[in-house]
Amino acid sequence: MRDYREISLWKNVTPEEWNDWHWQLSNRITDIEALSEIITLTPEEKKALNDDLLELRMAITPYYATLMDPNDVNCPIRMQAVPTSKERYTAEEDFYDPLAEDRYAPVPGFVHRYPDRGILLVTDQCSMYCRFCTRRRFAGEVDRPKSREEIQAAIDYIERTPVLRDILITGGDPLTMEDENLEWLLMSLRRIPHVEIIRIGTRVPAVMPQRITRSLVSMLRQFHPLWINVHFNHPKEITPYSTRALNMLADAGIPLGNQSVLLRGINDCPYIFKELFHKLLVNRVRPYYIYQCDLSRGISHFRTSVGKGIEIIEFLRGHTTGMAVPTFVVDAPGGGGKIPLMPNYLLAQGERRVVLRNFEGTITVYTEPEDASSHCHGCKEICMRQSMSSGGGVSELLEGSRLQLEPQVLKREERRHQWMEEKKDQSLNTSKPECPFL
Ligand code: SF4
Repeated sequence: MRDYREISLWKNVTPEEWNDWHWQLSNRITDIEALSEIITLTPEEKKALNDDLLELRMAITPYYATLMDPNDVNCPIRMQAVPTSKERYTAEEDFYDPLAEDRYAPVPGFVHRYPDRGILLVTDQCSMYCRFCTRRRFAGEVDRPKSREEIQAAIDYIERTPVLRDILITGGDPLTMEDENLEWLLMSLRRIPHVEIIRIGTRVPAVMPQRITRSLVSMLRQFHPLWINVHFNHPKEITPYSTRALNMLADAGIPLGNQSVLLRGINDCPYIFKELFHKLLVNRVRPYYIYQCDLSRGISHFRTSVGKGIEIIEFLRGHTTGMAVPTFVVDAPGGGGKIPLMPNYLLAQGERRVVLRNFEGTITVYTEPEDASSHCHGCKEICMRQSMSSGGGVSELLEGSRLQLEPQVLKREERRHQWMEEKKDQSLNTSKPECPFL
């Protein structure tokens, strides 16, 4: 981390200004001239910035810029912040909206994809625009929060949809909003009786930790149970500034989780993740997810194989505390939700015996009890509620309420329909003439 006073752009900036998040936000680096004063730009970076054809604008907080190595083009901080011309390449498998969020938006700004929870998109503004952003189709489009009137339509939908017990506020980055607007939003959600949990997804503690102020934290703590998921991708993002921000949030009793994105050339190494997760745990942040990089347009250069994510989990599980092992997920293209993937520890399954392997490669057998059937606990009321809101999917097979799940397009069914149609035609053609005497 560089001392900002050594960078010519900020040599006259006072510590008060530097520690003021409004100053950080309004002094973001947004053009090639300012950026060239901080790092030595490569031809690829210059090209991307000169031809102005980027789908996602550039904006880097002065704080995050001090974490960049000025001369190393492979610096993991720089790669997350500085665009390159590779973003202009669209791979065949790329999508505009890979998670079909727009398709599952009953009202603008609210995504209802899972049975009991939804995503509230309150702003398109972020303090920094991450080059791998999955929501690049709208992040930074107008670079401002939505109006209360725009957000109200989503709140009304949540209010009239009682299955929604868990709301994730995200964007953009909701912590770029002013305290009063956030407070209004949290109050509006807390007034809805069926909203049990509110979550905020934010990258602010990593890219603009100055935003975590005493007044913000004392406002947030009124709205428990409130969870915050932060977004750190590399141990270099853990600094005295981000540590202070995380500790302030944790001290306010806010449970913290971390969501990382697996990024080629940035963190695609088990040792990097291990170091990051150890540092996060020290800061009372539980590693929650590692995401396989989505199929968003223009970010194929950041994607790794899926096997890399499984390898990272293999490396962590058993080799360090389970608290440091997140779930590796692929967010299914087309809106199918998160699919967890992990190394295979179940080698064989027989009658009452399962063969398992551990992290060392030791193969062992576990013997199941003679009678392993589950007993009803007599919680009739819960059973009734569960069956009324059955989750569907494979759980219906386990419940015994369905015999099979079939894809919508099934070749053998198509054939059967065709045969039936043919039979119908034949029987019409071969039917005997009606008896005139009957
Ligand atoms: S903070 Fe999140 S939404 Fe904003 S650019 Fe980064 S990844 Fe995208």
